Parts: sequence; C-alpha cells; structure tokens
Amino acid sequence: MTTQAGDQLAPDDLAGTLDAAGYRMTDARRAVVGLIASRDGTFDTADLVADARRRRVPAARATIFRTLEILAAVGAVERLDLPNGEHSYVRCDTRGHHHHLVCTDCQRSVDLEELGMTTITADVELRTGYVIDRHRLELFGLCPNCQTRLPS
Ligand SMILES: [Zn+2]
Ligand SMILES: [Zn+2]
Ligand SMILES: [Zn+2]
Repeated sequence: MTTQAGDQLAPDDLAGTLDAAGYRMTDARRAVVGLIASRDGTFDTADLVADARRRRVPAARATIFRTLEILAAVGAVERLDLPNGEHSYVRCDTRGHHHHLVCTDCQRSVDLEELGMTTITADVELRTGYVIDRHRLELFGLCPNCQTRLPS
C-alpha cells in the first residue's frame, strides 16, 4: 500500500499500535506519540525535543528516546540512514516490509511497496550463491512541490 505524502496519521493510531503491542501508555509517552503523529516527513530526536519545548509538552529527552525506540520496535517508525551520513526517523504509515521515498528538501516521505526487489535479490542469489534474507533501500529526491518551488 502506498500513501500520499502529507497524510496525517491520527495520534490514536500510533497509541493503539503501542497498546496492541502491550506497551504501557503513560501520559509522557502519549505526549511524545502526539508530537510524532503531527510530524510530516523525516525528523530526529532534536526536532522532537524542540517540538516538545515549543508546544509546552512535558516530555523529557529520555522519554522521547525511549518512545522512539519502542515505536521503531513495533514498526511504527523507522530509522533511516540519510545520504549525508546522518540518521533520521520517519513515521511508517505502512506495516510490514516497505521502502521510503524521501524529499531531500522538505523531508516529506512516501511509503513504497517492494519495487521489484524480489526479482533483483533472486538474481543476485543466483549470481553469487549467497542466500539473501534482508535488504534496505531508500530513495531520495525532490518532491513535486519542491520541484515547482525551487529553480532548477
Ligand atoms: Zn516506513
Ligand atoms: Zn519536497
Ligand atoms: Zn524491499
């Protein structure tokens, strides 16, 4: 399933995911989940710390880190390696294996389906004799909005 960039996931969906996975929803965690749900595109912990401060949400840095870890463990957010060598998180609107297409300017992200990787890994297995059991693939570029906004 693909989602349009900019679709908002209700905080209750994220909170429900944690509930279903058996994690206790404290007020602080709920607050952090709310911050993440209102994020569009990729973000890092510093962004969330700044959001919490701006919106006067009482969430300590440690709680933000821990909540991100939990959300990553249940597949509701994913940690991405950016082309510049930095790391970032992105909220996943798709469950299960998928890829991301991230705008290098506004950081909006779209979830993508398998993109033909099954064929590629099967071919690589044939050629190398390796048994491939996982892969990571993220795509980066300018989104339609940023293409019209920025001079080429
Ligand atoms: Zn994802
Ligand atoms: Zn963009
Ligand atoms: Zn894949």
